[in-house]
Amino acid sequence: MPSYDPACYLCPGNERAGGVRNPAYTSTFVFDNDFAALLPDTPQETSNRDDLLIAVGEPGTCRVICFSPRHDLTLAQMSIAETREVIDLWASQYAELGASPTINCVQIFENRGAMMGASNPHPHCQVWATSNIPNELAKEQNGLLRYTNSHERCLLCEYLKIERTEETRIVLENEHFTALVPFWATWPFETMILGREHHTDLTQLSTDQRNGLADALKRITSTYDNIFGVSFPYTMGFHQKPTDGNEHPEWHLHGHFYPPLLRSASIRKFMVGYELLAEPQRDITPEAAAEQMRAAIPQ
Ligand SMILES: [Zn+2]
Ligand SMILES: [Zn+2]
Ligand SMILES: [Zn+2]
Repeated sequence: MPSYDPACYLCPGNERAGGVRNPAYTSTFVFDNDFAALLPDTPQETSNRDDLLIAVGEPGTCRVICFSPRHDLTLAQMSIAETREVIDLWASQYAELGASPTINCVQIFENRGAMMGASNPHPHCQVWATSNIPNELAKEQNGLLRYTNSHERCLLCEYLKIERTEETRIVLENEHFTALVPFWATWPFETMILGREHHTDLTQLSTDQRNGLADALKRITSTYDNIFGVSFPYTMGFHQKPTDGNEHPEWHLHGHFYPPLLRSASIRKFMVGYELLAEPQRDITPEAAAEQMRAAIPQ
């Protein structure tokens, strides 16, 4: 892959849709998505037909973040210092977008690889900021809050303690972050990145912790690439507390990796049949996946 692609709409200096030209950026670069699924001035109108067809207007913002001016890099190949700049931008975008009174949730995510529908290999992610809390986050929010209310502790702090005692599902760790295949994993090589210290969002991380997260991201993505000797496709993203102005002490910042591959670079898992109609099934146990991943950690 070339380090610069004249046809790439994300490379520095190139023209995007609508004739906007990217600056000659040298580290990270953020811009409003030219094909935004969400617009800030969407009216928050509700329509309801007989309590069956219910729709709510969703004002919001969609942005794109380029990780690097280099077209040919991935998180696995970027330096820890370069990824640290990406993390700083994630944190400042979360704070900036979340400060808007109409924005209550900021979701950062990366789709990597054609198998996941990523249209452009240039290393980048998206930020979608919404007024409503989307389903996946709402489910987690409810679970975290329910546990905290009944146990007076953070669910993910307690969960991490168990995982660090059992060790079998842990893939790798550094001083600040643990990457593990969760007990409930459904994707074969699904992982979760958990901070050892309780923080509700990226803005709370110290300098050391941000460097620790950059290290964990580099090592986990390099490990993925090593499993089948291919640039591993995935959807990755961070879950942070809602930006609705409440403290949310029950919320524990974490990242999810959802990679589709199962047995080789071309054999993927499909969520079909029983999984679509009933519930997901595991093809390999989380413990076996963690063991296979530990063996693929670059030395
Ligand atoms: Zn590019
Ligand atoms: Zn916690
Ligand atoms: Zn989550």
